[in-house]
Amino acid sequence: MSEQMTFPGQVTLDGPSGTGKSSVARGVAARLGAAYLDTGAMYRAATVAVLDAGVDPSDAEGVARTVAGARIEVGTDAATETVRVDGVDVAARIRGAEVTRAVSAVSAVPAVRRRLVDQQRTLVAEAGAVVVEGRDIGTVVLPDAALKVYLTAAPEARARRRAAQLGIRDESGIAELATDLRRRDEFDSSRADSPLRPAADAIVVDSTELDQQGVVDRVVALAGSVVAAGGARA
Ligand code: C5P
Repeated sequence: MSEQMTFPGQVTLDGPSGTGKSSVARGVAARLGAAYLDTGAMYRAATVAVLDAGVDPSDAEGVARTVAGARIEVGTDAATETVRVDGVDVAARIRGAEVTRAVSAVSAVPAVRRRLVDQQRTLVAEAGAVVVEGRDIGTVVLPDAALKVYLTAAPEARARRRAAQLGIRDESGIAELATDLRRRDEFDSSRADSPLRPAADAIVVDSTELDQQGVVDRVVALAGSVVAAGGARA
């Protein structure tokens, strides 16, 4: 099941934090010979701009103004991660706790979403075949995508995965991560603009009992079915 296929369209991969979405999206992009866009990295980069400007993430107007004036660049190559704010490489910094704490508030601001969604659509149009990862890709950004996948996993499994990624082993650290994931998911699911939810035509894949390779295989098989049914559009 590791042969490469050509998928001439868009795959959307949405879902809450800690489902292994990023690794799966990169793996699927490699197998499909497609580009990869991490929209979470764009909201995280916008958050760096807000924090560096000394703006309170809960000040929606200040956030909108700051993000409107920031140059946010992300790459679409699955093999390398490029994230810059005003020309400065922030690829490592966007994964830190400070950004993670503030990103949900920044991404709930409608003007921020409008700006980044426009940019996402431009990047997708330039990329052609592409796997796009986020929260609202199937519902808002690319409603006509050829294949929409919504990735879920049990909350404990998600906290444990995130802990393993960060090298956290003690139970209190894992419990803290679980609380943070829950808080972010509640915020992302209940915001007024583009809340986290599966698109009506998304296929839900539960990764609780699957390893990363198993999930990649499942999504690639779904892409194969779409191609076989003549459903992929570039
Ligand atoms: O996927 P990641 O954990 O990097 O996303 C960080 C945050 O960015 C999410 O918690 C969410 O608030 C926001 N986000 C969003 N819409 C997207 C992608 C991410 O609101 N399409």
